[in-house]
Amino acid sequence: MKKYNFSAGPSILPRVTMEKTAEAIMDFNGIGLSIMEISHRSKDFQVVIDEAVALFKELLDIPEGYSILFLGGGASLQFCMVPYNLLEKKAAYLNTGTWANKALKEAKLFGEAVEVASSKEANYSYIPKDYVVPADADYFHITTNNTIFGTELHTDIDSPVPLVADMSSDIFSRPLDVSKYALIYGGAQKNLAPAGVTFVIVKEDVLGKVSRPIPSMLDYRIHIKNGSMFNTPPVVPIFAALQTLRWLKELGGVKAIEKINIDKAARLYDEIDRNRLFKGPAAEEDRSFMNVCFVMEDEYKELEPEFLDFAVKRGMSGIKGHRSVGGFRASIYNAMPVEGVQALIDCMQDFEKQK
Ligand code: PMP
Repeated sequence: MKKYNFSAGPSILPRVTMEKTAEAIMDFNGIGLSIMEISHRSKDFQVVIDEAVALFKELLDIPEGYSILFLGGGASLQFCMVPYNLLEKKAAYLNTGTWANKALKEAKLFGEAVEVASSKEANYSYIPKDYVVPADADYFHITTNNTIFGTELHTDIDSPVPLVADMSSDIFSRPLDVSKYALIYGGAQKNLAPAGVTFVIVKEDVLGKVSRPIPSMLDYRIHIKNGSMFNTPPVVPIFAALQTLRWLKELGGVKAIEKINIDKAARLYDEIDRNRLFKGPAAEEDRSFMNVCFVMEDEYKELEPEFLDFAVKRGMSGIKGHRSVGGFRASIYNAMPVEGVQALIDCMQDFEKQK
């Protein structure tokens, strides 16, 4: 039976990413050694990281003055690295979900961290729009896609102070105006690579403004100076990320994938809205194109375990919703083909017919 991977992360990756990485694990570039056992400082690996950086710049149209880093520690380490490097007195945070809240919590260790707005009272089912960012904040932090709650900011917002974004679960899903951001970060394990590498896109001139000493491993400037090789970078995930970036370029880049993503999400949300058994908890205008959350209508609530079982038997993997939302979550990242989305829709329709 064909399986469709709807996991929220680590998640589906392009087939070619796995094939090329498997090949390189056995024999990298025909050198008779594995990518896993060569020096990160070897010429062969330098070519890999250089091309990955170049493709980041090309695919996201990153302007001059920004550096791209590949680090360890996950997006969660960025929750503390961002304030360590940028927060002198005050920072502003938009609280749109579990991850945004975790980022805010870390910032509080470094200074005043203001929550400008929160949708917590509505179980994070929407993205607050009416808020004021204090003009004296060192930066404003947003989470562009809320992986758990299935909400997404679909545009690049204007901010009166340097804008910092956690794009763990929507990077490379649409074109970006990078010039609006001071720093963008994310774990790679959704749209890029296996877990283990974290990307950071940082505008160099926002750095060096805090008075606290910064440990070397947490200092963006040290990583920039060393081309992400201050210590041993996660070599295999970076190699895999490069394969995904090549795949995306071949497909036509972020403009092309955005069209596909909008189409996939529209099909699934249309079915959620049409099907009498299901409903979507996220506010319509904020619905995520990456993580589609849906629950059963109140009168059918008790059918949730039955539908899960039905869907799993039909090859739908990873659709159980996060415990904070319940129900189901279909993560339809870049690598999810439209056939996978259609298979899930068929499953929802067949289940409805039985009820
Ligand atoms: N931010 C967002 C939006 C996420 O979805 C996740 C992981 N699911 C994280 C941060 C945490 O990432 P990591 O596990 O790489 O620390």
